Amino acid sequence: MNQVKIDQTSIAPGIRPQFWLVAFLLILGIAPLALPEFYVTTLNFIGIYALVALGLVLLTGIGGLTSFGQAAFVGLGAYTTAWLATTQGLPTLLAFFGQSPWLALLAGLIFTTIVAIILGSLTLRLSGHYLPLGTIAWGTSLYYLLGNMEFLGGHTGLSGIPAVEVLGWKLDNGRSFFYLVWGMLLVSVLTTRNLLDSREGRAIRALKGGIVMAEAMGVNTSRSRMIIFVIAALQACTSGWLYAHMQRFVNPSPFSLHVGIEYLFMAVVGGAGHVWGALMGAGVITLLKQWLQDWLPKLLGQTGNFEMIIFGGIMILLLQRTPDGLWPIVTRLMPTRQRQKKINWSAEPLDLKPMPTKGEMILEARNVTRKFGGLVANNNMSLQVRAGEILALIGPNGAGKSTMFNQISGVDTPTSGEVLFRDKSVAGHQAREIAHLGMSRTFQHVRLLPAMSVLENVAIGAHMRGTRSVVPAAWRLDRAEEERLLAEAARQIERVGLSAHMHDAAGSLALGQQRIIEIARALCSTPCLLLLDEPAAGLRFKEKQALGALLRQLSDEGIAILLVEHDMDFVMGLVDRVVVMKFGEKIAEGLPEEVQKNPAVLEAYLGGVE
Ligand code: ADP
Ligand code: MG
Repeated sequence: MNQVKIDQTSIAPGIRPQFWLVAFLLILGIAPLALPEFYVTTLNFIGIYALVALGLVLLTGIGGLTSFGQAAFVGLGAYTTAWLATTQGLPTLLAFFGQSPWLALLAGLIFTTIVAIILGSLTLRLSGHYLPLGTIAWGTSLYYLLGNMEFLGGHTGLSGIPAVEVLGWKLDNGRSFFYLVWGMLLVSVLTTRNLLDSREGRAIRALKGGIVMAEAMGVNTSRSRMIIFVIAALQACTSGWLYAHMQRFVNPSPFSLHVGIEYLFMAVVGGAGHVWGALMGAGVITLLKQWLQDWLPKLLGQTGNFEMIIFGGIMILLLQRTPDGLWPIVTRLMPTRQRQKKINWSAEPLDLKPMPTKGEMILEARNVTRKFGGLVANNNMSLQVRAGEILALIGPNGAGKSTMFNQISGVDTPTSGEVLFRDKSVAGHQAREIAHLGMSRTFQHVRLLPAMSVLENVAIGAHMRGTRSVVPAAWRLDRAEEERLLAEAARQIERVGLSAHMHDAAGSLALGQQRIIEIARALCSTPCLLLLDEPAAGLRFKEKQALGALLRQLSDEGIAILLVEHDMDFVMGLVDRVVVMKFGEKIAEGLPEEVQKNPAVLEAYLGGVE
C-alpha cells in the first residue's frame, strides 16, 4: 500500500511549487535593479495595495465577510506613524513610540487591534447585506474623522514623515523601499498561507457555508470571524505605515470609501479565494488604471475621466468572465505538482477523554417541544440513551426526527422541555458547548466543505483536541500538533473504509460516501454520544453491512449511538432499542421485535405519509 502511494507521488506531473516561488523571488530581487525608477515606484504601490487585498482575500474570499471599509484601517496605520513622527512634545509613552518608525508601526498595530475589535464586535454579528453596509458606515466615519481632526492636519494632512531605517540603511528612495515593501508583503503572504493550512485555518475556511457544522464540531466561529477581521485590519494598517513612509506625507484622500471599494475589486479580480490572487489583483488593477490614465486621453484626443468609465466596463467584464478571479487561470498555465498532505502514521495519538462506563445514562430528553409557528414539530418528546447503546429514532418523513436531533445537539433551542447530557442541562446551550461535553453528530443534509480534501474535512472534527492557534500556525510552530491531528483524521478515514479517497475533494465523492465522511469527522472528536441522521441513505448493500459492523464496534467500545434511519432491515438487525415518532410525538418505544409488531407503528408506516 505504501509503495503505491510513493509511486503516485513520484509520477505526479508538473513542476514543484517551490520552483515557482524561487523564480518569483529572483525576478523580484532583480526588478528594481533593472527597471527605471518610475516602474519601481509602480511596483511599490502594487505591493502596498496587495497587502490590503491580502487581508480581503482572508476576510472576504475565504471567510465570506465582505468589507468595504479596509481603506480606513490603512488610514489608521498611516496617520498613527505620521502623527507620532511629526508631533512635538508628546507625553512620555507616545514620545517613546515616536522615536522610530518601527516603534510607530507597533503602536499602529496595537491601536488598530483595539479599533478592529471594537468595530468587529459591533458589526460582525450582522448577517447578509447588513455586514457590508456596516463596514461602509464605519469606513466613511473614520475617513471623515481623519479629515476633521485639527491635530492630524485636516484635509491638508501631515508632512515631513521621516524615512525608515533598516540596520542603519536609510530607505529614502524607491529602489531601496522596494525591498521593504515586497519583503513585508511576502512575509504576510506566506504567514497567511501557513495560517490557512492549520487547525485554525480549517476553522476559518469553514466560515463560508459551514458555520452550523463547525459549531457542532466545537469551533467557536465568532472567534474565527474576529480573528480574520483583526488580521485583515492589521495587514491594512501595515500597508498604511508603508504608504506613509514611502510618500513621506499623508492626507485623508487615499483612505476614502472609494479606495476601499477598489481594494475589494483587487481581491475579487485577482481571485479572492487565493493568497497570491491579492498580488495578481493589485497588479492588474494598478497597471490597468495607470495605462488607461496615460493612453486614453491620447487615443481620444480629449480628457474627462473616460478612464473610469472604461475601467468600470472592464471590471464588469472580468467579474462576469472570471468569477473566481484571474489567479486560477494563471495556475492552470503553470503546471504545478499537486502536493498531497503527508501523514505521519507514527505521530503520537491525541489525548483521549474519559468515557462514561457502559450502561450509564448519558442522554435524557424530557418533554421536549419545538413549535415552528403553528406547527408542532416535536411534542412532549422524551427519550433516553445509555453508554454503549444503539437507539433508533424512526418514523415517517416529517415526523420530527431531525428536529429532535437539532434540539439535542444545540443546533436549535426547544420551545420547552429539558435535555440532560452527562447530567448537565444542555437545552438552549450552544452546539459547540455540547460538542465539548462529548456529543458529535452528522447531518441529514450533508455538511462538508466540498472543495476541501476528505482529510481536511475530517480533521475539523478533531479541532477541539488541539490548542495551537494563530501565531504558532502562521510561523509553522504548530507542526507537531498538526501531524497528530491529521494522523487522527487519517485513522478515522481508514476506520470507515475510505482511505482510497483521503486526498480527494470531499465534494467529488458519492453522496453515500459523503455521509460516511461525516461519521469519520464526528469520530475524530472522540464522542461518547454519536447522533447519526440517516447514515445509510444512498449506500449499497455491502456498504450498509460495513456501516452496521462499524456501528456495532463503536457501541462495543462504549459509545452511545442515536440513529435516524429509514431502512428497516438495517435498523432492526442493528439496534438495541427503537423509539417511533409520528407527527412530532412518540407513539411507541421498545425492543426492535416488539416495536415491529406494535399496531400503532404498523398503522403509522402503512397508513402514514410515506
Ligand atoms: P423528519 O426528520 O422526521 O423527516 P423534520 O424534523 O425534518 O422531520 O421535520 C418535522 C416538521 O417540522 C416538518 O413538518 C418540517 O417541515 C418542520 N420543520 C423542520 N424544521 C423547520 C424549520 N426550521 N422551520 C419550520 N418548519 C420546520
Ligand atoms: Mg429528517
